[in-house]
Amino acid sequence: MPTRVFDIAIIGGGVIGLTLARELGARGAKVAVIDAGDAVPQATPAAAGMLAPSFENCEEFGGPSEALYRLGSRSLELWKSYAAALEEETGIFIDYRNDGALGLSYRDAQTQDLAEQAVRVKKLGGAAEMISGAEARALEPALSKEVAAALYAPEDAQVDPRRVMAALTVSLNALDVEMVRTRVLSLGEGDAARQFASADGDVFAAEKIVVAAGAVSGLTPRGLVYPVKGEATAVAAEVVLTRVVRAPGAYLCPKAEGRLVIGATEELGPLIDHHSVSDAAIAGLRANAGRAVPALETAKELERWTGLRPGTPDGAPIMGRDKEGRFLALGHYRNGVLHAPAAAEAMAALILGETPPFDLAPFDPRRFGPGRFSPGQGG
Ligand SMILES: Cc1cc2nc3c(=O)[nH]c(=O)nc-3n(C[C@H](O)[C@H](O)[C@H](O)COP(=O)(O)OP(=O)(O)OC[C@H]3O[C@@H](n4cnc5c(N)ncnc54)[C@H](O)[C@@H]3O)c2cc1C
Repeated sequence: MPTRVFDIAIIGGGVIGLTLARELGARGAKVAVIDAGDAVPQATPAAAGMLAPSFENCEEFGGPSEALYRLGSRSLELWKSYAAALEEETGIFIDYRNDGALGLSYRDAQTQDLAEQAVRVKKLGGAAEMISGAEARALEPALSKEVAAALYAPEDAQVDPRRVMAALTVSLNALDVEMVRTRVLSLGEGDAARQFASADGDVFAAEKIVVAAGAVSGLTPRGLVYPVKGEATAVAAEVVLTRVVRAPGAYLCPKAEGRLVIGATEELGPLIDHHSVSDAAIAGLRANAGRAVPALETAKELERWTGLRPGTPDGAPIMGRDKEGRFLALGHYRNGVLHAPAAAEAMAALILGETPPFDLAPFDPRRFGPGRFSPGQGG
């Protein structure tokens, strides 16, 4: 017999699980979030919080790049009211800024790549323009003279993901969403597909189960959602930049209280140590940041950290159902913070039996072929 029975159980309390819980809770559903806390490495607190569809497409994966771009731009639009509503409701400042982003180039080949990206973004209806190095320095006087050109994406934005998580937690509390702190070890199959077992020895049951458990849950098939390690640092930088700068080899995100986030490495493979932050990785990021903004060379380090992005084989997220009828909200890779409001809106509709506001077919788990979604194979 199950220890507890829920209406809707969301396994995973990162930005994807919590925004979905808020959407469902606000619509009157009875929701519980089951989260392992520090027992499983998370992506969300490690994220820089860029809301930047203009710099992301998955053409390098041969995947559904247009659908991915449209998901990102839809969510960027939603973030404007989402951020204001979340702050108003909770009284927690989430440091939403929509003053755009600059992608820098130092040489012709990089300028060419950015110019091609600007054409792609404009073709998809987004705002992006190439500007000269001098124009970029007029926007951000701290930029190096070495900057030759830049892609200016005036509508890209950012938030502080840790503040967003704090606000979501307060919001869920007010919505009576139950938070259960435990690690889910296995999901049931067949007749027991509405059950799952925890590391504390409990067996839970739910009418609807959502797996939103990030990169290393042990609940998804190996290779479909896999960890891509990212290391990052924050330095003290009083008024050096006003907007996000994406330089070759490092991005720079100015945050509240004189904090500037510099990220991030990307590493994957079976031998990667998921927990450590290496001096070499941080030194590399600092060097690349210092090349773009020389005043940062001597900035004092405040913090360094690592996180695991939930990658997928084609770089696009997984939103749909598995063969047991469970809902999957996984694999948002480099853009989970950006995608969260749109993903929550679409997944809530799917869970409540409504037509999602946009086509989820490009994100359906079945695109990876039959027989890939059985539980308990690690991952
Ligand atoms: C360095 C870095 C920088 C990034 N920068 C950006 C950015 O600028 N913009 C952007 O949009 N995205 C960014 N990302 C990506 C973004 O962080 C992720 O896409 C997003 O956070 C994924 O959210 P999630 O909820 O799916 O996963 P997570 O945040 O990992 O949450 C999953 C949750 O599930 C829990 N869990 C896992 N397994 C179990 C289990 N078995 N039982 C119970 N609970 C479980 C975990 O404890 C965790 O709380 C970045 C990521 C990294 C690492």
